[in-house]
Amino acid sequence: MIDLHCHSHFSDGLLSPLELVQTAGAANVKLLALTDHDTIAGLASFREAAIDAGIVPVNGVEVSVRWKKHDIHVLGLNFDAESPAMLSLMERQTHRRTERARAIAEALSRQGVPDVWERVVALAGHERVGRPHFAALLVQDGLARDIQGAFRRFLGAGKSANVPTEWADFEECVSAVVESGGDAVLAHPLKYPLTRTKRQALVQDFVDAGGGGLEVVSGPITPSEMADMAGFCARFNLRASSGSDFHGHPYSRLNPGTQRELPVHCIPIWNQWDMAQGIT
Ligand code: MN
Ligand code: MN
Ligand code: MN
Repeated sequence: MIDLHCHSHFSDGLLSPLELVQTAGAANVKLLALTDHDTIAGLASFREAAIDAGIVPVNGVEVSVRWKKHDIHVLGLNFDAESPAMLSLMERQTHRRTERARAIAEALSRQGVPDVWERVVALAGHERVGRPHFAALLVQDGLARDIQGAFRRFLGAGKSANVPTEWADFEECVSAVVESGGDAVLAHPLKYPLTRTKRQALVQDFVDAGGGGLEVVSGPITPSEMADMAGFCARFNLRASSGSDFHGHPYSRLNPGTQRELPVHCIPIWNQWDMAQGIT
């Protein structure tokens, strides 16, 4: 099994990289990418744990991108984690993320939530705070029934604690991934609230920026959605990726490596990676 989209507690996942590797190993995953949000800080311990467990590790990151007022995710896969292009992209994204997190904390403080910043950092275990961390805090405080409710009432687009963020654009993100020797993959294309025409424009702009892959299988996708995404690959000449988007229980509906297989006519993104030869 292959899983090229998983999170650890270095972003909004619940497990350490070691625990993630153990969970993936139990599901018979042989090729695994750690793709935390806008950070590669977990990759060193992830690689070590994976190699110990007989799993081939793939360097990964899930980069937040701004496209026409939409927050879009791009996976960087199989890059050199020491490349200056990647390190400087991570620095810029960390800065943007921290600014956004502080602004969200301020907005929630103004609405009467106490000690937001201190508590959300404690909850995340680090300062690379994302919206799911704020959502968890709001649930803890009884201000929302669940994560979705917290987004609906406070954190989602147009709500009282929503802070539009000037993330990287496709050009900035894709060029950094490619310059560092990696592949840029448009993550979960069906997760964005876009019309079909807009979704095509999104993929076209991603391709124009140099993007080479599409996440055809992402989490619990249906066969017809998968076929739709395979069609995008054929039309835009993109390679296909596959991942569970595992965050740890109870947030994930899928375990690592338990997502569906790629449609047979897709060209897997890992076909061109030396270390992936022989792994299916
Ligand atoms: Mn996440
Ligand atoms: Mn995502
Ligand atoms: Mn993800």
